[in-house]
Amino acid sequence: MLRQLLPRSSLSTKSSSRLLAAWEQPLRYYSIKATAASTTKLKELDASTLSITKTTTPKELVPWNELVFGRSFTDHMLSIEWTAADGWLPARITPYQNLSLDPASCVFHYAFECFEGMKAYKDSKGQVRLFRPNKNMQRMNESTARIALPTFEQAAMIQLISTFASMEERFIPSTKGYSLYLRPTMIGTQRTLGVGPPGSALLYVIASPVGPYYPTGFKAISLEATDYAVRAWPGGVGDKKLGANYAPCIVPQLQAAKRGFHQNLWLFGEEEFVTEVGTMNMFVAMKNKETGQKELITAPLDGMILAGVTRDCVLSLAKEKLVPEGWNVVERKYTMKELSDAAKDGRLIEAFGSGTAAIVSPIRNISWKNELVDCGLQPEQEAGEIALQMKNWIEEIQYGDVEHEWSYVLPQSK
Ligand SMILES: *Cc1c(COP(=O)(O)O)cnc(C)c1O
Repeated sequence: MLRQLLPRSSLSTKSSSRLLAAWEQPLRYYSIKATAASTTKLKELDASTLSITKTTTPKELVPWNELVFGRSFTDHMLSIEWTAADGWLPARITPYQNLSLDPASCVFHYAFECFEGMKAYKDSKGQVRLFRPNKNMQRMNESTARIALPTFEQAAMIQLISTFASMEERFIPSTKGYSLYLRPTMIGTQRTLGVGPPGSALLYVIASPVGPYYPTGFKAISLEATDYAVRAWPGGVGDKKLGANYAPCIVPQLQAAKRGFHQNLWLFGEEEFVTEVGTMNMFVAMKNKETGQKELITAPLDGMILAGVTRDCVLSLAKEKLVPEGWNVVERKYTMKELSDAAKDGRLIEAFGSGTAAIVSPIRNISWKNELVDCGLQPEQEAGEIALQMKNWIEEIQYGDVEHEWSYVLPQSK
């Protein structure tokens, strides 16, 4: 019975018994990870295998002011194939091109796909920098492992991405706010309609030059608190960057847009816990009901929240810079009712989303149960003080104006 579901190719190779064993484990994504590590025959991802084929038809640069997020791409792409029998094959940088995949490839049927979002920045000396790339690579390995795709050596992948990003250096404007958005992606490529762990996969990275999220300054957004659709749930995969998490959020977003709201504020459960905003983490600054102390609050990483790199930066910078000013920084569950009560009492100071694309996204109000919860901005104000400071603090590290261990100068550009 089990054998029928296994990929053909893996049955005829030495790895068949290993994969079978993995398949029979209830938590097989852990087993596969452990198995890959304990087998010496499987090749690790190795940056020294890289071969480069440069394009003969370099693209014309899109004028910086005409850049639309994720619409134009650079000259090249980075690809590495994996097979269950051999492990990671040699890495390749080639001209940007279409993929050729069998229509039975498991990615198309069972959503074996996960991705990352990170950026390369150019500093005032013309050096190219990544921002906390280890965080993205670690998170990607957690995503891939959860859907039975292979994991990879993080340091090797950072090295390959560095080579790729520095090759595409001409696409990165040195102006503040501009960057090269990098999209590492992994898909299962096994040709089979059988539901099982993919026997082959493709890891690739494409890059898209992007402009500032708010070209004319912050624009505070309005949210619709969403309870009829649920983004993530306990024991689910909302804490992983799986493509399968995103498509189901588009219809609720269109619904919210139809009623005049920019994004969904995803609630969970009868208590109506506040989880995330659109595809961003959510932060609220408010005064404690009992003590009056100012608190910066975000939901905890309980399996329903994507562990944002920006979220981690905001928490860390808040502890460093706001706690000495009397703030409390708290990761805890909080409800929509709490926000509404705080707004009514005048204790809600500000709210914002956080993510790589915008860094922070200030929130003006939240529609909830025929109520419009005002998030504390003055009518003429588009961002609160914390959001403004956070954007500046993070940006000055990303662009190397302030030296920090989070900023990784590409060895090629030093
Ligand atoms: C990517 C993402 C975030 C933000 O993560 P960053 O690492 O800060 O970009 C938050 N929530 C969801 C659902 C996401 O997909």
